Amino acid sequence: MSLVGLGIDVGGTKIKGICMDEEGRVLAEANVATGNGSCEEEVLGNLFTVIDTLLNAGGATSIGIGCAGPVDPILQIAAVAPNIAFLRNYPLGRVVEGRYGIPTRIENDVKVAALGELYFGQGMRVQDFVLVTLGTGIGGTIVHEGKLLRGVGNAAGEIGHLTLERFGPQCGCGKQGCYEALASGTAIRRSFLYALGRGRHSKLSILPSEEIDAVKIAEAAREGDRLAIEVFEVSAFYTGLALSYLVGLLNPQRIIIGGGMSAALDLMWEKIQDTLTLHTMDYPLRQVEVVPSGLGNRAGVLGAAMMSIRTIRPENR
Ligand SMILES: [Zn+2]
Repeated sequence: MSLVGLGIDVGGTKIKGICMDEEGRVLAEANVATGNGSCEEEVLGNLFTVIDTLLNAGGATSIGIGCAGPVDPILQIAAVAPNIAFLRNYPLGRVVEGRYGIPTRIENDVKVAALGELYFGQGMRVQDFVLVTLGTGIGGTIVHEGKLLRGVGNAAGEIGHLTLERFGPQCGCGKQGCYEALASGTAIRRSFLYALGRGRHSKLSILPSEEIDAVKIAEAAREGDRLAIEVFEVSAFYTGLALSYLVGLLNPQRIIIGGGMSAALDLMWEKIQDTLTLHTMDYPLRQVEVVPSGLGNRAGVLGAAMMSIRTIRPENR
């Protein structure tokens, strides 16, 4: 019997899914809006729509789901998913498996993205790498000797919450000065608006603040806007610093940069490399290569589908 896996990524704004065969060929794709994250019925309804569409297209022998926040891989429980409030200690894997009768596995979204890189992306033929996802938040996953490094509670690799400034800005996790609070898309927007409020000039000054986001700031930076360039440089500095800790601690062969903000890596590349060079010991520095992800926002669904195919064997049931 040939194996077909569904890979689903339950995100704060979108639920994305693909249907994949065991050779890694994508047979179908489906995307819908997540809906109101506090409403279990609405989000599950949208999730089931994606799964139904994919099952109609290609059937499935297994389902893999990536979702934000810590996930217990044994109990198949999503502990806390930011932006999807009802997924708190929620047995998402069992709910989906109960409805469809298809073996289902859930995993943290950054971990499935790292599996996507391992199977299909910049992590192929690389035994030791770290995936760093730069977006509205900052996530990370360590792959050691070809396997996910999980830690005792499956929370290893959360580099977004390393403290890089003792008295830095408040982070969503409750601490202050986290890498994420200093360098994410959200942090870039906040520093930019703060500087405008303090009288700094930018070509975006004419826009109402709610229309200004990291994407618009990146466009302005490419057009030479001084303030926009500065806030990206500050973010890039903290990324370089965080990467220097990873290189010093783990001696990886590669660091893969993914996430929505990787589209603005051109604005940050030089500063990231300069900072990394300045703060890293020569020996591990010479061995590491920093590369952008080539999979974009599909790393998660690709990894989730192949994870389900490789870890769930229908004959074992
Ligand atoms: Zn934090």
